[in-house]
Amino acid sequence: VDTWKVYVDVLKELGKLNSAIALLSWDEETHMPKKGLTLRAETIGKLSRTAFELSISDELGRCIEELEKRDDLSEDKAASVRIVGKRYRRNKAVPPDLFEEFTIAQSKSQAAWGEAREASDFALFCPHLEKMVDYTRQFAELYGYQESPYDALLERYESGMTSARLHAIIEPLRERLVPFLDRLLIDGTPPDTSALDGRFPVDAQRALARTILERIGYDFDAGALDDTLHPFTSQIAPGDVRVTNRYLETNPLSGLFGALHEGGHALYDQGMGDDLYDLQLTDGASYGFHESQSRLVENQIGRSEPFWTFFRPVFIEAYPALSNLSAEALYRAANHVSRSPIRVEADEVTYNLHIMLRFELETKLLDGSIQVANLPTLWNDAMDRYVGLTPTSDAAGVLQDVHWSHGLIGYFPSYMLGNLYAAQISRTLREDIPALDEQIARGDFAPLLDWLRDKIHRFGGIYEPGELIVRVTGQELSPEPFLAYIFDKYSKIYGL
Ligand code: ZN
Repeated sequence: VDTWKVYVDVLKELGKLNSAIALLSWDEETHMPKKGLTLRAETIGKLSRTAFELSISDELGRCIEELEKRDDLSEDKAASVRIVGKRYRRNKAVPPDLFEEFTIAQSKSQAAWGEAREASDFALFCPHLEKMVDYTRQFAELYGYQESPYDALLERYESGMTSARLHAIIEPLRERLVPFLDRLLIDGTPPDTSALDGRFPVDAQRALARTILERIGYDFDAGALDDTLHPFTSQIAPGDVRVTNRYLETNPLSGLFGALHEGGHALYDQGMGDDLYDLQLTDGASYGFHESQSRLVENQIGRSEPFWTFFRPVFIEAYPALSNLSAEALYRAANHVSRSPIRVEADEVTYNLHIMLRFELETKLLDGSIQVANLPTLWNDAMDRYVGLTPTSDAAGVLQDVHWSHGLIGYFPSYMLGNLYAAQISRTLREDIPALDEQIARGDFAPLLDWLRDKIHRFGGIYEPGELIVRVTGQELSPEPFLAYIFDKYSKIYGL
């Protein structure tokens, strides 16, 4: 028997099931009429169960065990066995009865979270979150870890990352970012954003999102752009990577940066070799790495001055009422910093602070040093220490994110790691392409995309994130490039 062929055949089956699930989920979030929800949920549930069973099948297990002993596999094949093997063992570690119990508690928890948020009353969600934390703790024990149970959870999103390493990254970041934010907001002169108050037709915004996606190199022959409530990018299959976006009539920048963010994710997905799909290597190096590609396009490019030199004429053609704004004024307005209680509304300077407070609370919930019931108070206290404000309600505080209601603990750091990777990658990018700013100012994104494809996209999940960042930048992940980028950029904008 050709073990490799048996192995790839199972992965191809899995790929088809995952493709169907992705398409049904994308449709559910974009075009599906709401009366279709019940059957859709059942259909997705059925396919997911089939895919899960296949992912823990004895046949796959035998293949993995045998292929792990071979040292003649090519780099991509070996990476596939490493990743699929890891997932196989994780999925196998949780007894099916426990997992089923968890998924039932999970849907109740999500529903309770929705109601609690609506009523802005944490007490409605508290018993459910206690269960989610409890299940998560059990899973961590079953997955296994070296030092801290949190590491077992992190591993799923950021292979090789540990809470000890995160602490070492966060400590200097917080120590330097918090005082800088204070200086910025107390001594600095904030950009004037008043010109952007007004009404901006959603049709015009959607057209602009399409334009900018085309300009940065997103391939519409291998994708689509649709409206949704919570934007995401979905890799349906090779040659089919779809972007979704949302537009606010009162804010012309929200939908624009949403499109650039999702566009960054989509360029990563579109840039992975088609042959990696059957090897299950098209999730990227990690969640954090995927986020670095969206952040880099959204922030290091989209919120840069050269970008607005290029984009101003396009922007004011869509919104003639803004024609008195210079490129510099638009650049400044796009980089307004404020203390917001809401993570998803946070700017580049404050965003990581929102993640640090979640990391602090998550790790303490998991090791039992704090209790779920005390979370609202602990949240508000941490928000004051990190961001410098106190939320006025549970809805604008501890209840704002959906993640914990799903039992997603260990996920939040990916967002912060994405910001840090993006800044570090961007530094190397600018060294490699000294003319980048002039190219962007002309609207020429091809050299940027070529570089990202060559250094990052084409490898998909072949390398571990810790290995890839060293391959790309020559150094391990550090908060320094991010801090240097933030200090330099915002000191100038705020005239410190
Ligand atoms: Zn993202």
